[in-house]
Amino acid sequence: MISYATVTAKKPISSCFIFAFLFFSSQNAVVSLNQVSNSQPVARPLKKLDKHVVLLISSDGFRFGYQFKTNLPNIHCLITNGTEAETGLIPVFPTVTYPNHYSIVTGLYPAYHGIINNNFVDPKTGDVFTMASHEPEWWLGEPLWETAVNQGLKAATYIWPGSEVRKGSWDCPKGFCQHYNSYVPDGDDDDRVDTILRYFDLPSSDIPSVITIHFNDPDPQGHQVGPDDSLITEAVVNVDRLIGRFIDGLEKRGVFEDVSMIMVGDHGMVGTCDKKLIVLDDLAPWIKIPSGWVQNYTPLLAIKPPSGHDAKDVVDKMNQGLRSGKVENGKYLKVYLKEDLPKRLHYSDSYRIAPIIGLVDEGYKVEQKKSKGKECGGAHGYDNAFFSMRSIFIGHGPLFSRGRKVASFENVEIYNLICSILGLKAAPNNGSDEFASKVLLPRK
Ligand SMILES: [Zn+2]
Repeated sequence: MISYATVTAKKPISSCFIFAFLFFSSQNAVVSLNQVSNSQPVARPLKKLDKHVVLLISSDGFRFGYQFKTNLPNIHCLITNGTEAETGLIPVFPTVTYPNHYSIVTGLYPAYHGIINNNFVDPKTGDVFTMASHEPEWWLGEPLWETAVNQGLKAATYIWPGSEVRKGSWDCPKGFCQHYNSYVPDGDDDDRVDTILRYFDLPSSDIPSVITIHFNDPDPQGHQVGPDDSLITEAVVNVDRLIGRFIDGLEKRGVFEDVSMIMVGDHGMVGTCDKKLIVLDDLAPWIKIPSGWVQNYTPLLAIKPPSGHDAKDVVDKMNQGLRSGKVENGKYLKVYLKEDLPKRLHYSDSYRIAPIIGLVDEGYKVEQKKSKGKECGGAHGYDNAFFSMRSIFIGHGPLFSRGRKVASFENVEIYNLICSILGLKAAPNNGSDEFASKVLLPRK
């Protein structure tokens, strides 16, 4: 961990800050540079690069609102000079890492891209999906890097869920597809940034058109202490420092204003405490739920009763118990047949999703039996309607208006947006066709 006093003190003045000054001190003058005879602002021309390049950066568990925790000059530089989702980026359900990262790069809801949770069992084969599963059968849809390579562009990935999976014409090429290595020490983040910056030293035709990178912070800290601890402030300062490292490195190469830099997070974080606990064994007077039926406990409860048990009957008995007033915190868990879940969650249309799904209220946890546990921490995975599950979206670059706020949107829109920046034909997806034209500046 680093202290933020040292970080902010060392930051040199970059063109990002100069643009911010120009923008706010003489807004008309700047806008006029990007206008064609009093018409609407249009995309700014590339200065050095001869093609559009998208740099997609994810900060894991960067909850919407973290950008106000302290002075974060680099993130705010992107916000001031770019386009931001005003009240955050809406994750897909379940609001966990793998489903969301893969939705961002495919434009598909988890039921359609197949990664329905971080870990799950395929009910047909009994095979177990884990975050280390790279077999292409798990990963449906067409991720961004595959779309790019299919259409003759180069792509590079750095530890983005799904990127190590060889699919279609994406073969995870050496040097452009960095592998996840859990043994890499924390200081690795700087190396990740520098590796990507070196791509911009390559001959123009070799610079990847789309680059994705994932930072682990501030998710682990959020789990450890919840979203309101000073440890989170330190972690987001570190993320800001890494964004600053990108900005500086791109500026040194004269391409910062040419690169479309998109910063997102996969989900938010909410505080959890042991007193907000729902225990499945407490339902025994209505129905016994053996641990062998439970594929996932919390915050997404997923249950698959063995054959011979009627799922509807299990749901009814569980809900009877939960609503009886006799189960501690029972009213904070609602159990559904997956096809009866609210449609807005898009979480039923896959055989991989367990037949019974429980939704818990914000900050509550489900366990089999009361355990000692630790008093308080943080979690995500809840209903994506909760603001605490939201993350951020900032777009900076030639096709993004400066200082613009757009209404919050679901992260399945991002795939189409990036395809539009790069001039790619998007694969079929759940995003909307018109989204990119609403958010991006028109080209001349
Ligand atoms: Zn997490």
